[in-house]
Amino acid sequence: MTGGAGYIGSHAVLALKQAGYEVVILDNLVYGHRDLVEKVLQVELVIGDISDRSLLDQLFTTYEFAAVMHFSAYAYVGESVTDPAKYYRNNVVGTLTLLEAMVAASIQKFVFSSTCATYGVPEIIPIPETHPQHPINPYGATKLMVERILADFDVAYNLKSVQFRYFNAAGADPSGLLGEDHHPETHLIPLVLLTALGKRENISIFGTDYPTPDGTCIRDYIHVSDLADAHVLGLEYLLADGDSEIFNLGNGNGFSVREVIAAAEDVTGLSIPVKECDRRPGDPPMLIGTSQKAINTLGWQPRYPGIKDIVAHAWQWHQQRHK
Ligand code: UDP
Repeated sequence: MTGGAGYIGSHAVLALKQAGYEVVILDNLVYGHRDLVEKVLQVELVIGDISDRSLLDQLFTTYEFAAVMHFSAYAYVGESVTDPAKYYRNNVVGTLTLLEAMVAASIQKFVFSSTCATYGVPEIIPIPETHPQHPINPYGATKLMVERILADFDVAYNLKSVQFRYFNAAGADPSGLLGEDHHPETHLIPLVLLTALGKRENISIFGTDYPTPDGTCIRDYIHVSDLADAHVLGLEYLLADGDSEIFNLGNGNGFSVREVIAAAEDVTGLSIPVKECDRRPGDPPMLIGTSQKAINTLGWQPRYPGIKDIVAHAWQWHQQRHK
């Protein structure tokens, strides 16, 4: 697994381990956390980059991998606008290097983290997988390019992939041992909770004049452990010789920025100061996906669709991480 020391990857490692699979992590630790791999996950960690072809060749001859799961991508939308080269190099060229090494080593099953950012501004809600894809930032464009590469690699090299288009990954493993720890942190739920902990003065609400019931943006927050479960099912689907498929992963429920803050006040019992600000560029008013295809095809069932569970698990993690 690439990126197994990161937020979503680490939760997927845990789910795979719990399902009885052996995992080797390749992570360059630019954003990943070595302490979580060593103390919590306790699987082998190879420190290196997906762009290092000779390291990949060596790894693929040392181990007999049944499949590769690929989580190592840069994912800051704003940064992708100001520094697109970084995104195209890592997310597209790096992934291409990984895929070429897989083909050379005859590893033909691949689970890929794509994103709802490939859709751009939605024409219909909830968004199905068949929705047109017109990304409005380089991050979304890099993921769409890999989707295209994977379609072509299937035809030419018989490389089978499950591609998951994530909505807003959030929450933390209910054990409190794993969670979200980005530097810098830009996501709503961790920022709200860091404000509750007194690490920040207030939480900015980016835009209060959107065409939504309370004027703030609505997102589909999906619990990271539910995402992780879907990866195990996606892997098992490929191991059972399933054909390449693309699945949305969201929980089908939308929550506004104000609803998230209210849930956090409820969960923490603290009052969280807010600052109403201008809109953040590039934010569509509402993003909600339908994940019926993953439910029907993979038998996936989100365990924590409620915003209070998502926030409560994240709160548990933040309290112990920032003790
Ligand atoms: N948001 C906000 N204040 C913040 C961070 C985010 O109001 O400090 C809003 C943001 O505009 C979006 C929603 O919260 O509507 C979710 O943003 P996040 O960055 O968590 O995820 P994204 O939807 O950008 O992937």
